[in-house]
Amino acid sequence: MLSSSEQATSSVLIVGSGVFGLGTAHALATRDEFRHTKITVLERVDFPAPDGSSIDSSRIIRPDYADGAYTSFMAEAHKYWRGDFGADGRYTEAGLCIVTDEGDGAGKGEASDYMLKAMENVKSRLGLKVGRREDRGQVEPLVSAADISRVMATMEGDCGTKGYVNWTSGWADAEAGVRHMRKLVERTERVDFKTSEVRRLEFGDGKIESVELTSGEHLKADLVVLATGAWTPKLVDLRGVCSASGHVLAYLDLSEDEQDRLGRNPTLLCENSGMFIIQPRGRQLKVARHGYGYANPTVIPHPERPDSGETITVSLPRTKMDDENLNIPPEGDRACRAFLKKSIPYLADRPWTHTRICWYTDTPTGNWLIDYHPAYSNLFLATGGSGHGYKFLPVIGDRIADVMLGQDGDALGAELRQKWRWPVQKHKSDHVWTDDWRGGKKGMILDVELGRSSSLSSNGVR
Ligand SMILES: Cc1cc2nc3c(=O)[nH]c(=O)nc-3n(C[C@H](O)[C@H](O)[C@H](O)COP(=O)(O)OP(=O)(O)OC[C@H]3O[C@@H](n4cnc5c(N)ncnc54)[C@H](O)[C@@H]3O)c2cc1C
Repeated sequence: MLSSSEQATSSVLIVGSGVFGLGTAHALATRDEFRHTKITVLERVDFPAPDGSSIDSSRIIRPDYADGAYTSFMAEAHKYWRGDFGADGRYTEAGLCIVTDEGDGAGKGEASDYMLKAMENVKSRLGLKVGRREDRGQVEPLVSAADISRVMATMEGDCGTKGYVNWTSGWADAEAGVRHMRKLVERTERVDFKTSEVRRLEFGDGKIESVELTSGEHLKADLVVLATGAWTPKLVDLRGVCSASGHVLAYLDLSEDEQDRLGRNPTLLCENSGMFIIQPRGRQLKVARHGYGYANPTVIPHPERPDSGETITVSLPRTKMDDENLNIPPEGDRACRAFLKKSIPYLADRPWTHTRICWYTDTPTGNWLIDYHPAYSNLFLATGGSGHGYKFLPVIGDRIADVMLGQDGDALGAELRQKWRWPVQKHKSDHVWTDDWRGGKKGMILDVELGRSSSLSSNGVR
């Protein structure tokens, strides 16, 4: 752990410039404890990484969590989204309608449980007023399909059977938010940005000796921070700790009129299928799934013993940067199409303009991994986003810096720090199929799903 004397002379190398990397860079560049620290951020591709998990048209910004610590943490982040950070269209407070759907069987009890706990948390922790929007209510229980249809009126479909709407939730233009954070970091004039890919870390006796780039260059730093998202298991052995899981996104074009109509709805999130549709932006609608995702098992040399000949199998991202023809598997395509058809019937046959597999860094519990590596004293991990890290972009860096310094900050910080620790016990299998709440099926392998017949697939792109 950094001590005060080390802080004065230390250099910090942050690898990755998504939410966790930029957030960390901003906190270090603005906190007094790091005023003498040389800070460098490395990113493998020109910023912003098009296949990074932080870069997309939209991300949901919600305090609606079954785990109240994240509800309270979101209350901190929300102040920023509602202020300058969310200005210029970066944040829209359009509401979030969370539903369960009896027709969608799997995991119903668990989904409903998550939803009820989330509603209780926003009421009790944030003091939101219960009631209809027209009566100045902020959170409204929806007890029937008709209630949900009323809230999701312009979708004109069958959106769910029970749920609630939180009118204080919203969504962010994800890429714009990350670009804004990068500008804030640049403005400090404290951070050196380099476009370089880390090939490997050079592990010495209990510490990282240096970082080798694909250019062959070696960089040394007193502290190396891995904020490399779903790619992290390539650089350090995270079997049973973190795994990349691929999630489906399908986009379609709207007319101006459709944009206007659908732009009046809150985001729709179905807890038992994991399917969701965020308000459209720029005449583009996205259908997506917060599920268990696909594993992409890949054999790699053991990252900590590359010369030993030993290999390990870990799930790593495969993106359009690896294969420009990569689209979502037929089962994911069908799931997105079915949800679109059911909830917005008048768009049922609209073809996708493109699809994408976007990669979560999953942990067994869904809590992030923000901690020092137990075996290497100058290696710090800021990853494990588990599909819900984006919304904390304005505030995550300060909490990461607190953990680096061994500080709690406050009672919430102490609680979060415990959740984000290197796990005492690893997941039972090398690949982490998270026990966090998700919709859909567990255990899907990307290549198996891509190889299945697409004859039943929708009229989406292939
Ligand atoms: C489909 C999808 C939907 C989501 N929806 C939401 C949502 O609605 N709300 C929400 O709050 N969160 C959401 N999330 C989660 C959120 O986006 C992530 O938790 C967050 O963006 C993770 O940020 P990161 O910095 O860990 O990863 P990334 O943004 O992936 O950043 C990692 C960076 O490291 C770089 N890198 C990797 N390896 C190397 C290397 N060897 N050398 C140099 N650079 C490297 C990568 O290029 C990348 O830019 C969603 C995620 C996905 C995929």
